[in-house]
Amino acid sequence: MTTTIFHAQVLDTPEDPFIGGELRAEECALAVCEGIITFRGPLAQARQMFPDAPVQHVPGLLLPGLVDTHVHFPQLRIIGGLGMPLLDWLEQCALPEEARMGEPAYAAAVAEEFLGGLIQAGTTTALVFGAHDAGATDTLFRAAQAHGYRMTAGLVVGDINLRPDLHTTPERARAEAAELIHRWHGHGKLRYAVTPRFALSSTPELLEACQDSLHEAPGVMMTSHVNENLAETEAVAELFPRSQGYSDVYSDFGLLSERAVLAHNVHAPVPELQRLAGTGAAVAHCPSSNSALGSALFPMRDHLQAGVPVALGSDVGGGTGLSLFKEGLQAYYHQQLRPDGLPLGPEHLLYLATTAGAQALDRPEVGHLSEGMAFDAIALEPEAHSPLAAILRHAPDASRALAAVFATGTSADISTVWMHGEPTPSRRPQPTSSGRTPSESTAFDDAVQ
Ligand SMILES: [Zn+2]
Repeated sequence: MTTTIFHAQVLDTPEDPFIGGELRAEECALAVCEGIITFRGPLAQARQMFPDAPVQHVPGLLLPGLVDTHVHFPQLRIIGGLGMPLLDWLEQCALPEEARMGEPAYAAAVAEEFLGGLIQAGTTTALVFGAHDAGATDTLFRAAQAHGYRMTAGLVVGDINLRPDLHTTPERARAEAAELIHRWHGHGKLRYAVTPRFALSSTPELLEACQDSLHEAPGVMMTSHVNENLAETEAVAELFPRSQGYSDVYSDFGLLSERAVLAHNVHAPVPELQRLAGTGAAVAHCPSSNSALGSALFPMRDHLQAGVPVALGSDVGGGTGLSLFKEGLQAYYHQQLRPDGLPLGPEHLLYLATTAGAQALDRPEVGHLSEGMAFDAIALEPEAHSPLAAILRHAPDASRALAAVFATGTSADISTVWMHGEPTPSRRPQPTSSGRTPSESTAFDDAVQ
């Protein structure tokens, strides 16, 4: 078993800053063996403990891999459908693209683009809405396995109020989920999530089938949407008049627990939040999507006061990109703009994008870079002449540097992504001194070298 020592300026948030935890910023060494951090401390001590281990000096900042708790695989190519509220956007933008997932070659191409995009964005763990098509969802799992990706995902199901070609039946939903669970759940870093699209596209019989799927194997998760848009919440209230509120529909069908994540919840009455807190379910806050679709500003204070765990989601393609740096900044904006907004610092944004997400997805092995954790990490190393590089060179402290990463950082500022200790170059090859990338070298270059 070989050990590698990484020496870097490491920033992470092992303790919840919403209850007094602080940003941990240390220049230190991490010894990594078989993808696990076996030592964290001074470089001299690491060298003494592992005299044969190579030392890799990571320039810039080393952060934990980011965790996206709500993102749709079939929607990568429709990012940017601006100018519509939720239900129009679904009909005109999202659902036509979802229907294309029935073409295997199309789904396979999008799966590669999607996973490549997540990795490039430094997102090393994700809870993913699969497709309505079981074959496409299977393709997604296969692609994630090939990449060694830490993914929880599931077949999306609905049997009313969608396009007819996306409708399933309770029997078919139950059978297809069972097959996917047996094929993928618990294999490597893959897990299954039962995924009703939302209550509005579900009959009671379909939600009962979802409850059966949840008990198909231990550790299966559940995810869906909730309280995103007022027209949607009103329609759900009409469809399920016996439920007290929108999230109660899922609760009434036995779908909510600590292994459930509901996206959005921007129109959540406080009594409903208190009932939701009692289930243990977490909420995926997707601020870019909420702004792009004009849904609402997220009531974070109400969530935290009620005791509902909150993490971040990109909600691509309602969201405007896969970068969780942008989602962190947008979460900050939402709170700045709400009269009861919570003042968020960079430590809150990093926590929401890492440790909080890992907890919501029941992935205690990731989220921060302590001993015993998996080495899922990203090197933040902006181009030398970029504004962010200049800001980082002159930042008075780590907190200001991290704030600048959320304010201006993009996927392009990430040079390397490690997943379970395995490095993946994130950024495209740098231009050589001649201005060409290595792949653009010519025969003449070879002759003179
Ligand atoms: Zn969504």
